[in-house]
This record gives sequence, C-alpha cells and structure tokens, in this order.
Amino acid sequence: MKVKAVVFDLGKVLVDFDYGIAARKLALQSQAPASEIKAVIDQSPLLFLYEGAQMTTQEFFKAVRERIGFAGRFNEFAAAFADIFTEIPEMTRLQSELRGRGLPTFILSNTNEIAIGHVRRNFPFFSDFTDYIFSFEHGVLKPHEGIYQITEQRSECRGAEILFLDDKPENTEAGVKRGWQTICHKSAEESIGAVWALVG
Ligand SMILES: [Mg+2]
Repeated sequence: MKVKAVVFDLGKVLVDFDYGIAARKLALQSQAPASEIKAVIDQSPLLFLYEGAQMTTQEFFKAVRERIGFAGRFNEFAAAFADIFTEIPEMTRLQSELRGRGLPTFILSNTNEIAIGHVRRNFPFFSDFTDYIFSFEHGVLKPHEGIYQITEQRSECRGAEILFLDDKPENTEAGVKRGWQTICHKSAEESIGAVWALVG
C-alpha cells in the first residue's frame, strides 16, 4: 500500500541526545555527583512520570532539585537539562526531501515540555513537520496504543498508509500491531534506504 504519512520518532532518529551532558552541568550547582544526577534524569521513573504528563514541569524541577540538591534557579536547570541534543543531518535531510515530494511528515515522541521548547528554538528543521504528537501533551507514552490512535487521528491515515521510524523495537512493534509499516532505526544509511524502498 502507498505510504501517505511518514512518522518520525525524535530522539536517536532525528536528533541524538546525551543526558550525561546535562548531568555534568547540573553537577556544578548540585550536591550529588554527575553519575547520580544522570541516574535521576536519564530514562528514570521520574522522567517517565514527567513525559507521561503525570507531573508538571515545575513539579519535575522540584522533584529533581530535591533529589540532587540543586542550588540554581529553574531557568538554569531548564537550560542545562535541555541542551543535550545534536541534529542527525542525514535524517533531517530525509524528512526535508519527503516534504519536498509532498508527503506529510509527523513527529511522534515520548518527550517533555523543556526538551521540546529547546529543540523548537534551536533546530530549524523542527518547524517543518505537518504535525506533532508528544507524550506530555496527551498523557500517554509509546508503546501504549493510545498515542498511536492519536497519531492516526491527527494524520488522517491508518494501517499501512503510515510509515513509522523509531529506534526502540517495542515502539515499532506497537505500530506493527496496528498494521503500520515500520522501520526500527539503527543507522541513517539503513533507514534512508528502507524509506525510499517503501516510498518509491
Ligand atoms: Mg527514540
């Protein structure tokens, strides 16, 4: 079936990230060492609560501040927490080329308000998608089916009309269950070849 929408995961697909960078910056104003800070913010239960909209940004800040003994202000925290991303230019070029062909493109991401604010301000590629589906705006995380249903509604596509790229197998498998075409992203080279083979 012809692909009518290409849905990209954000982290490790369009941008790389490293919470170690944030942990080292936060450590300069904290009682806890960087290694401990990283464990608090990187793919931690606290981060999942925040990205699943179980906590507000201020609640997340206060919870992290308490755990790591951070002495700075919210703005300093947010700047350090968010400045962890680097663009993957081969993949953002792919998105731009798909848009050039007239194909709608979407971002479907488990993410948070601080990260998205930072990415929106600093990465021009980010503004050029048809629409965005973020876990923190819907209170549901991949691979829960709810966020896939929302993506179908927003894209007005379903089943094999949707091509989805994500680096986590559990997330692509949830797409397969809905009949989506999926690519489990490992490298830009492989994903680009696979996308063009499906899109033609
Ligand atoms: Mg990812």
